[in-house]
Amino acid sequence: MSATIIDGKAIAARIQDEIAETVQKMQAQHGIVPGLAAVLVGEDPASAQYVRMKRKRCEKVGIASFGHTLSEDASQEEVEALVKQLNADPQVHGILVQLPLPDHLDEEKVLSLISLHKDVDGFHPINIGRLAMKGRDPLFVPCTPYGVIVLLEEAGVEFSGAEAVVLGRSNIVGLPGAFLLIHRNATVTVCHSRTKDLPGVCSKADILVAAVGRAEMVKADWVKPGATVIDVGSNRVDDPSTEKGYRWVGDVDFDDVKEVAGALTPSPGGVGPLTIAMLLKNTLRGAELVVSGQVAS
Ligand code: NDP
Repeated sequence: MSATIIDGKAIAARIQDEIAETVQKMQAQHGIVPGLAAVLVGEDPASAQYVRMKRKRCEKVGIASFGHTLSEDASQEEVEALVKQLNADPQVHGILVQLPLPDHLDEEKVLSLISLHKDVDGFHPINIGRLAMKGRDPLFVPCTPYGVIVLLEEAGVEFSGAEAVVLGRSNIVGLPGAFLLIHRNATVTVCHSRTKDLPGVCSKADILVAAVGRAEMVKADWVKPGATVIDVGSNRVDDPSTEKGYRWVGDVDFDDVKEVAGALTPSPGGVGPLTIAMLLKNTLRGAELVVSGQVAS
């Protein structure tokens, strides 16, 4: 039997429509337009493309977007000064520092300078710390794992008591994703490059989240029949048969796994659109904190 395909594009489009409506109401009732500032250091083409995409989506839902590009050799002081300036700017409700930063910069220090209530990527140590603790709530949850949870909810997954396996332990996806699943009472196993018998571990999962960055690594015999599989991976592979000479694939072998899984996201078209939708949602939340008087500006 073939898996139900979880359509990330359609789900993200619906969420964005809801955000656009709320943004409009906020402007009409409170005169506040949510604003996102994107900081890009250097000219890495992939990072520049991500930032362009995020800004374009902001504009589509009525969120103001402010782009700040610093040169590849920008000093730590320059980056920190920009973050402080954005912290103080009342038009900015969310600050996004596009990662990775060039090697000479102290990423942790930059991220920890972002005001807690503008930390729409959810990478501030206090937000991550709260996410990692029982009974505490971060102000913002990192966008990609947040999107993973929304996709699982949309697929109608029962979290409580489910066996969940997260493949990958990065700060951006795997670890925060594991915490979000634990908060929902799943029993979570986190796998990484030293895990023994990956197929054996993965095949016990009712919920399998793949975030390893290895093209089509997860095969049908890694998947428990009927499991829900979320493919975070986004990998460029050579394909001379295409016009561009390459195509994008996930960490899951889609054609193979769809014969076994109960539900499955495609990649592209699964987690990617949700990541941006959650960034917009977090930016709106940043503005809502101001509207509700929880923060000054
Ligand atoms: P990282 O490279 O930061 O982390 C990869 C993780 O996978 C690490 O924990 C690593 O283990 C583990 N790993 C790597 N190779 C293997 C292997 N052969 N067997 C077992 N574990 C392995 O990647 P990210 O978390 O940043 O991204 C993962 C994927 O998700 C990428 O394809 C990326 O492009 C995609 N992505 C997609 C997003 C979206 O919006 N759609 C957003 C962010 C990422 P160890 O810790 O031991 O090194």
